[in-house]
Amino acid sequence: MKHKITSGTKEWADYNINCIKGCSNDCRYCYAKLMAKRFGRATEETWKKMTINKDILDKKFRKFHGRVMFPSSHDITDDPDILNACLKVLRNVLITENEVLITTKPCLSVTKEILQNFSSYKENIQFRFTITSNNNEILSFWEPNAPQFEERMDSLILSYKNGFKTSVSIEPFLDEDPVMLVNKLLPYVTESIWIGPMNHMPKKNISPENINEYDRIRRIKEYDNLKKIYDELVDVSKIRFKDSMLIKLGLA
Ligand code: SF4
Repeated sequence: MKHKITSGTKEWADYNINCIKGCSNDCRYCYAKLMAKRFGRATEETWKKMTINKDILDKKFRKFHGRVMFPSSHDITDDPDILNACLKVLRNVLITENEVLITTKPCLSVTKEILQNFSSYKENIQFRFTITSNNNEILSFWEPNAPQFEERMDSLILSYKNGFKTSVSIEPFLDEDPVMLVNKLLPYVTESIWIGPMNHMPKKNISPENINEYDRIRRIKEYDNLKKIYDELVDVSKIRFKDSMLIKLGLA
């Protein structure tokens, strides 16, 4: 079966809004960090320090013709200043009746704040929680300061139980076989589960003790493993494959 392909964040939304520079989660595969470093906007050290873009805080947003992703180049963390800034921007986007995709590796306390503050906008919000593995050792390596699996799962369950639209991104998938993870997520997902391989793997400055883990990720995104995952999940109605995976499989 051939699939229609779009590219980058356009797969998910028509517009991106961000209000923070940097991201304390400091994921090793982060594309936003890679770009910020390449264009001299951040270093390996400064990226972790999140700074608020004050110009965005009081901005009034129009009604966009299409879905808005918030955020796309940082996360909504539980640091009180960062959280307040994100809630303010989110309110300003929602107040003009925009449809918003909230993408996050969720802290439970942050999820609770969003659920409480925006219950009247339930119909306009879809959560897209990034849950890339159910193995906390693997998560701590690749996403060192992001919440552990159980906390992300609790956020998903709570949002589902509160009647919000829920979806999950397993991109990049970090387990050889993400099917077990998919089965844990499915009962709490109202919309879709997206799967894709790691696209941006650091090639330089890998310390000798980390080489095995980088090699493992390289192996699990080879054609044969992608095909195995595709075949196992293609008939699950809520599963969506990222374009990068379809291209590698020759299905785009
Ligand atoms: S959570 Fe997203 S923006 Fe933040 S470091 Fe990880 S990949 Fe980058």
